[in-house]
Amino acid sequence: MQMNYPIWHPVTQMKQLGVPPKVVRGEGSYLELEDGRRVIDGISSWWVNLHGHCHPKIVQAIHEQAQRLEHVIFAGFTHDPALELAQTLTSSLPGELNKVFFSDCGSTATEIALKLALQFWSNREEKGRRSFIAFEGGYHGDTFGAMAVASENVFNRPFKELCFRTDLVAYPSIEPGESILLKEQQTLDRIDELLRRSPQAYAAVIVEPLIQGAGGMKVARPIFFQRLEALVRSHGVLLIFDEVMTGFGRTGELFACLKAGVEPDLVALSKGISGGFLPLAATVCRDRIYEAFYSEEVGKGFYHSHSYMANPLACAAANASWELLVEDPQRFRGMEQRHLERCQELESHPYVRASRVCGTLAAFELESSAPSGYLNPIGPRLTQLLLDRGVFLRPMGEVAYLLPPYCITDEQLDQVYAALLESLTELFRS
Ligand SMILES: *Cc1c(COP(=O)(O)O)cnc(C)c1O
Repeated sequence: MQMNYPIWHPVTQMKQLGVPPKVVRGEGSYLELEDGRRVIDGISSWWVNLHGHCHPKIVQAIHEQAQRLEHVIFAGFTHDPALELAQTLTSSLPGELNKVFFSDCGSTATEIALKLALQFWSNREEKGRRSFIAFEGGYHGDTFGAMAVASENVFNRPFKELCFRTDLVAYPSIEPGESILLKEQQTLDRIDELLRRSPQAYAAVIVEPLIQGAGGMKVARPIFFQRLEALVRSHGVLLIFDEVMTGFGRTGELFACLKAGVEPDLVALSKGISGGFLPLAATVCRDRIYEAFYSEEVGKGFYHSHSYMANPLACAAANASWELLVEDPQRFRGMEQRHLERCQELESHPYVRASRVCGTLAAFELESSAPSGYLNPIGPRLTQLLLDRGVFLRPMGEVAYLLPPYCITDEQLDQVYAALLESLTELFRS
């Protein structure tokens, strides 16, 4: 037992972790550790940091907002930072995605999307629609609803029997040696079969568009999501896009739904929303969802809240982050090309089984004799070897990936690739 260390860290066996290194500063792509080392944050601190650490423009926006209004109850009041952010989101997302419900993390954003979908149908007197279709390997968060719409994994295993039942279909990810057309068709056929067999049973289909994040950085094609949208619409079921990871430029476009050319009914956003400064999330829905709650009947409203929802400081950070995002879109649009220019050597490395690049993401699946998945011991060993070379990555089991902040320079990106190559070689030599 670590008697003197009072903190319990996430997704870790504390007995293995020990006391982690202390970070004392952040600046641009760098984190500075207590012992003076500077390491490149190659995964944007769990995918949230878009423009580098402590970006002065966001620091300034939070400072100014804190002097005016730090927080206010959001039941019965509104404020400018939230209004500006809602206007930005609704005018940037496609078509009728016009209403924003705020919360504070990705799990609540998806949980709210699921609850809105369920109540949408019950408000419309279609009370039988209580089920979801979701994707194997998907991850939507750690609250109970979010856990329920995922396949059994290390995150939800101790609780799975308490979760509501969900029908799972295969995520049609691009894999070497497999026919993508066949995979996509099989998944669409399976969804069609489920929806035909029980036409009144499903509330919605929930999916991570283009990139399945925590499930191992799997990449699927835009055309699949267009066909999925058409299928789901033909059965009159709702479509939920979990863009908690893919939003705000990660796929090379502002949102994955724009890149895929799809207009879902509900979109969950978080992670990059505040540029990585403060916890914030948003669930954006189409007018027709909102209209099903807008009623003379009080009980048809959405009785859901979080104490810190639409926190003005977080919204001010998000508005400043958005300005940085759109003032130079090449920073996220151009990242795919920068990855492609650098990843050949890794791709042909004897221990790299598969690789994929999508927007700002580059992922490398490593050869491993241990069972594949989050608990594969390669991950922590690689993290250590990389830290020794001034780079922080946190592989998910045998999948090492880069998801850098958009400010990363060419030299820094070169360093990350070189460190990964060297660490891999050392790992497999030992
Ligand atoms: C991270 C993530 C979540 C959960 O977000 P938290 O802020 O960690 O609760 C949900 N969905 C996806 C796709 C994610 O990547």
